[in-house]
Amino acid sequence: MSSPQADFPLFPQLPLELREEIWRFCLPNRVHELDRPLAENVYDVDEDHPAWCHLQRTSLVNGYPPLISRVCRESRAVAHETGRFLPLDQQDRIVEGEWYSDTLRHDAWRDAARDSVYLNWTRAYEVDFYYTEGDGSPLEYLAKQVSPTKGDGSMMAQYLDANFGPDYTEVSTSVYHPQDPNKERDSEALKQQSSWLVVTRVIVVHSDLQSAAATGLFGLLGDSLVQIVDCSNATRIRQYLDLAESCEQHHQVAIRQNLQQEPLNEVEQRLKWLVKRTQGSEELLSAMRPGIMFRLCTQQCDRRV
Ligand SMILES: [Zn+2]
Ligand SMILES: [Zn+2]
Repeated sequence: MSSPQADFPLFPQLPLELREEIWRFCLPNRVHELDRPLAENVYDVDEDHPAWCHLQRTSLVNGYPPLISRVCRESRAVAHETGRFLPLDQQDRIVEGEWYSDTLRHDAWRDAARDSVYLNWTRAYEVDFYYTEGDGSPLEYLAKQVSPTKGDGSMMAQYLDANFGPDYTEVSTSVYHPQDPNKERDSEALKQQSSWLVVTRVIVVHSDLQSAAATGLFGLLGDSLVQIVDCSNATRIRQYLDLAESCEQHHQVAIRQNLQQEPLNEVEQRLKWLVKRTQGSEELLSAMRPGIMFRLCTQQCDRRV
């Protein structure tokens, strides 16, 4: 990448409307995480296979106000046009009839005009976090958070079936109990949107912020640390995988991720089986697309032995 010019002294002389347009262009389009991820629930971990990232730092920083909100009063005002923190009195609320978990975070910055929403939650979290059936389903909660203008929502494939993975087959068993009231509610929630990105893999790029930001893969200014890319965009997926690969080689990490690119038709097939088995519906097939999540972590989690 050629290095962009570091300064632009004429900027203050531009008309206000133009300056504001430029500030708007610098705002991140983020994946807004509704809840915190736990590495042991995202990855298959045990003593011999520790998780290669704690995931927490990425989550935290991805919920900070955009970088340009800290440049000057003018840029701050632009960031606040559509972005905000929830008021404090709404951050810890439990709404009756609405799904709730201790992993939910209401303290993250959210730009309703730009951000998509993502739910980390899967059944694996039930063990450690408060959750009662009958108080609304997690997918109902997610669907409600999808912004009507933006219309992007996504969840883990393992939400629909804990067994989902590279070896997933047509006959894998469904995660729902036969009498689970959430089965019906989840299906209804999914039908409320015409498109969903279903995260089939979570890959972490361990890099310093500056080099990662320079690639443009984590937002124009590197303040969009969580990305979900549609698997049909093979070229873009390749770019992230190459970046992850080069970081792992360059730093001689202790734990390596599987960075193979799965053929599109194979991942589509697995998602098809998943939707058919868990939702029992062909109707949802076209609405649900496979995606890969890429997270930028600036801590060196993968270098410990
Ligand atoms: Zn990490
Ligand atoms: Zn590196």
